[in-house]
Amino acid sequence: MKCPYCTAIDTKVIDSRLNQTGDITRRRRECPRCEGRFTTYERVEEVMPAVIKKDGRREAYNRDKVWDGIQKACQKRSVPTQKVDEIVTHIEKMIQSYGLKEVPTRAIGQMAMAELHKLDKVAYIRFASVYREFQDVEEFMAELQGPALTQDDPASLAFPFAANEGAGGTASEGKK
Ligand SMILES: [Zn+2]
Repeated sequence: MKCPYCTAIDTKVIDSRLNQTGDITRRRRECPRCEGRFTTYERVEEVMPAVIKKDGRREAYNRDKVWDGIQKACQKRSVPTQKVDEIVTHIEKMIQSYGLKEVPTRAIGQMAMAELHKLDKVAYIRFASVYREFQDVEEFMAELQGPALTQDDPASLAFPFAANEGAGGTASEGKK
């Protein structure tokens, strides 16, 4: 790491410590040439894309939000907390595999629904009823009976948005 004072190339680390959550390493460095001291921080590069909300606003992906939504749907069901963790991790891996810079909350919701559908029907219905904001009972019943979420590969649910990426979000963004 280059010295910020005299631009010497070789500086030495005199102290190195992790922060409390273990995701940032703070290094105290010293330049052997000018004896200047400075600090560097090292962290894993964020790999989750931004989330596009219903109203079009973008925000940073938040694992806790996804986790809470799924956990709530699984309340008082025989779903271990560890399973909720697994679902969220699985969803994150799927999202990352698309390599997109942004992902709609709708797509994340669909992935969660597909996972819950496989796991626990009651949890699935709870999640779907909150997430889809059903207008009436008929719509809800149609959802229950429909074959929409029986695909083995939940990733297929999310591909339409990926294909429309150019025509959809990006285009409307340009008009602003
Ligand atoms: Zn220096």
